[in-house]
Amino acid sequence: VGAIEMSTLNLAERLARPELLNLEPYQSARRIGGRGDIWINANESPFNRTELARLNRYPECQPPELIEAYSKYSKVPAANIVCGRGADEAIELLIRAFCVPGRDSIAIFGPTYGMYSISAKTFNVGVNALSLTEDYALPADVSGVKGCKLVFICNPNNPTGTVLSVERIEQVLQQLPEQLVVVDEAYIEFCPEYSVANLLASYPNLVILRTLSKAFALAGARCGFLMANTDVINIIMLVIAPYPVPLPVSTLAVNALSDAGISNMLADVELLKAQGKRLGDALTELGANVVPSGANFLLAYFDDVATVSNGLKEAGIVARAYRDPRLVDAIRFSFTNEAETNQIIAVLRNIL
Ligand code: PMP
Repeated sequence: VGAIEMSTLNLAERLARPELLNLEPYQSARRIGGRGDIWINANESPFNRTELARLNRYPECQPPELIEAYSKYSKVPAANIVCGRGADEAIELLIRAFCVPGRDSIAIFGPTYGMYSISAKTFNVGVNALSLTEDYALPADVSGVKGCKLVFICNPNNPTGTVLSVERIEQVLQQLPEQLVVVDEAYIEFCPEYSVANLLASYPNLVILRTLSKAFALAGARCGFLMANTDVINIIMLVIAPYPVPLPVSTLAVNALSDAGISNMLADVELLKAQGKRLGDALTELGANVVPSGANFLLAYFDDVATVSNGLKEAGIVARAYRDPRLVDAIRFSFTNEAETNQIIAVLRNIL
């Protein structure tokens, strides 16, 4: 930090890798362009060779229409939103911005989404892996994570599908005021009442991750969002790529976030939840132990998981099994349309 007094820094600056504080954000082609009709500032081609948008030009780093569209949808102010290549990129940006390699660590509560620890390890950042309780709740005492810069909480949790209450997450935000609590809401459209988005204004240590890959059906487009107070956003802007979101992707994303796009999404969510309920009921009836889910998937435990795995595989159904010791008897099923759900249930009836 050098000459900068620690006491004048905000929380995000105190937590950031110190060397970042001396950097200026990269000025992308669209930012240094100024005003005018002739753009010769970024070594772009003047020739638009596509039927699509102006693909000869670099996009905005943070396309304003995309940020506005997500702001309108999420009811979070545009100043508190950053977009990028999926929630996975946001995880990586957080680790790069806040964790000193070889010194700092992140905390996770497992079993949970694998990319938090993979991303940390690729940057030589430590992982303090704590356990969720027997019923997949956060442990009552989370003070063991106090030495970590970032605390990842996945809600609904992948791969268990379980949800944590807003009250519990708010308690954690109060218990860990000097750390960033990153709530991964990748699946929140399937249980929107569990979102902590409206706590953003009250907690400078809260960061929320979102994605268009799940309910919005755009996994192939790679578009996700990080939402936080502006101090955190400013630090993230020091490490983000100059052009993280390709122009065709922001066009698709803005479309998905239009009124029509949102109503399609809401209809899909209802359909998937109904099919998920059918699948869960069938599995329960067949003797599996189904974990109640707030997401678009469920985790089911089987007495003889190998038989179920092999039976699904032989029928050409690709589901996810796990190596985590707590999950060895479990299979995760993503919810799907009615016809495929019928087939899956028929195959399961055959196996079990
Ligand atoms: N968080 C969780 C909990 C996820 O399950 C996933 C996708 N598997 C991601 C983040 C990454 O999403 P994206 O496609 O936006 O990178």
